[in-house]
Amino acid sequence: MIPQIKPDFVSLSDKPKETNVHPRPQGHASHGGQARPQHTAARGRQINNPKNIHSQTHKPKRHAQPKKSDSLKIIPLGGMEEVGRNMTIFEYGDDIVILDMGLQFAEEDMPGIDYIIPNISYLKGKEKNIRGVIFSHGHMDHIGAAPILLEKLGYPPIIGRDLTVALVKNRLEDYSPKSTKNLKIIRVNSVDDRISLGNFRIGFFNVEHSIMDAVGVIINTPHGTVIHPGDWTMEKDSASHKAVTYHHLANLPRPKVLMLESLGAVDYRTSTTTEEEMYTNIERLIGEAKGKIIIATFSSQVRRIGHILEFAAKVGKLVALDGYSMKMYVDIAKELGYIKVPPKTIIPVKDIHKHPENKIIILCTGAQGEGNAVLSRIMTGEHRFIKIKKEDTIIFSSSVIPGNERTIQRLKDSLYRQCDNVIHSDIMDVHTSGHSNAASIKEIIKQIRPDYFLPTYANHFFLKEAAKLAMDVGVPKEKIFVLDNGSVLEFENQRAKVLPKKADTSYVFVDGLGVGDIGHIVLRDRQMMSKDGMFVVITIIDKQTGKVKNSPDIISRGFIYMRESKELLAETRKKVKEIVEQTTTAGHPINWTYVKDNLRDKLGQFLYNKTERRPMVLPVVIEV
Ligand SMILES: [Zn+2]
Repeated sequence: MIPQIKPDFVSLSDKPKETNVHPRPQGHASHGGQARPQHTAARGRQINNPKNIHSQTHKPKRHAQPKKSDSLKIIPLGGMEEVGRNMTIFEYGDDIVILDMGLQFAEEDMPGIDYIIPNISYLKGKEKNIRGVIFSHGHMDHIGAAPILLEKLGYPPIIGRDLTVALVKNRLEDYSPKSTKNLKIIRVNSVDDRISLGNFRIGFFNVEHSIMDAVGVIINTPHGTVIHPGDWTMEKDSASHKAVTYHHLANLPRPKVLMLESLGAVDYRTSTTTEEEMYTNIERLIGEAKGKIIIATFSSQVRRIGHILEFAAKVGKLVALDGYSMKMYVDIAKELGYIKVPPKTIIPVKDIHKHPENKIIILCTGAQGEGNAVLSRIMTGEHRFIKIKKEDTIIFSSSVIPGNERTIQRLKDSLYRQCDNVIHSDIMDVHTSGHSNAASIKEIIKQIRPDYFLPTYANHFFLKEAAKLAMDVGVPKEKIFVLDNGSVLEFENQRAKVLPKKADTSYVFVDGLGVGDIGHIVLRDRQMMSKDGMFVVITIIDKQTGKVKNSPDIISRGFIYMRESKELLAETRKKVKEIVEQTTTAGHPINWTYVKDNLRDKLGQFLYNKTERRPMVLPVVIEV
């Protein structure tokens, strides 16, 4: 079932055209002189030849009229207790709309786990009710789980702006080649688009965020209008354009429910740097550089990368892109017409030595200190083509993602040793954040004047702090809901309540290619091994006598260094014989499971008494 687009639609607002009050075209893209391309033109050059909803003929199915008893339910499956795994279900009668399908990167205590995806048990049996999945923007914590979840849910239609859709498709192809052929795509060409998804009416608004084509979403039902900016920041007016504002959303039908990404709730810094000032700083650094320039940034910063490429072309420098995701984003952005750069400006990284050093700019990934990313390899001297010299300039055009502080500090220390010109945002404004701060959270609430406030997309403590900010600007305490993952919040007849039963949101781990096949037991084993190592004892037992033959073999990894522990090993071998002989009787059949369990438990205790460590003990018993 494909939902229909109504070209001109609904009383979402008395003044629907207000959503486009800004003089510049289409929100985001006019920054730094980059005009957003005409979508009709861009569509002709779509990557991977997508099915476009507009070109399909379909009979819109009539949806059942909502019953009086139908309420609006909001169920966050992730993103309420962490940064990442963002996914929210909106349910109204027999219709379900989903916003975002993000992943969460594994925590330090989850060895071997690649990432975690939202648990969709709640949707089991309701797949046929899903009318569409809206993606607010293309960051991994919003689209990363799409390949797995879209497949599991039978590929409901997806909705998003061009770059977002292109990134979802890229992610699908990476995960499973040719899977994009299953996609049904509804493109958001303008924030004035209106879409009916079952009995939901969907509208959009411009937001400012650190990736192009981010879009705010309006989800309207008779029981409430949800306003969800996705990730956002409060833009500042600059010389060339007026900032995106949110005043017009105050006119939406009530009750207005503001679901607000609140990662900035404890950020009391006030930055006054505009994008343009940041570009001016970067351009000055490029202009003054004596050697080559290495700029590490988030590869999803398409606009910034485009700007640097254009500037490089203007001043006659050459740019080498390094890092898989950096190249991927630039390719997609070029396809969409978001980055326009003369063909000769971009050179392969292997060719940088063919040009004078002061002509070279390297745009790379790894500003978070990721071990296998480009910047780390440059730092350790392992990069085949890029070697750091004292006179080079290294620019971190990025912020520190919480949790990466120590790694980045080490990276900076090492780079400072090798290079005299390392620039990061503590020194000069070479980065602007894509997230709001406390003052902006208050400001957006004042502009939208919501009836209900649901802070979202951050750890619990940010949500609580955002709730306080909302109270400061007049939202009554009883109209603020700090939900957990899995909470079910119901709106009915102007009233909201949290239902007693939660949806299951337990972790679904993705490990290599397996989804959800790693359970907590496997994880506990890995935690144990990563903490105290493992200890394998191979014992040969004579099944006639029940006695140990020869000396047991011992393999230890990550527990003790065998050569320095001869005494302990000798005692352990003795202990093994003792345990085996206590559990067997000559002439009686041997219960091998019992022998092994005993070995594991008693050896574990023995080793703990000796070392105060608990390695994983693996007894291997060979009967002869
Ligand atoms: Zn984001």
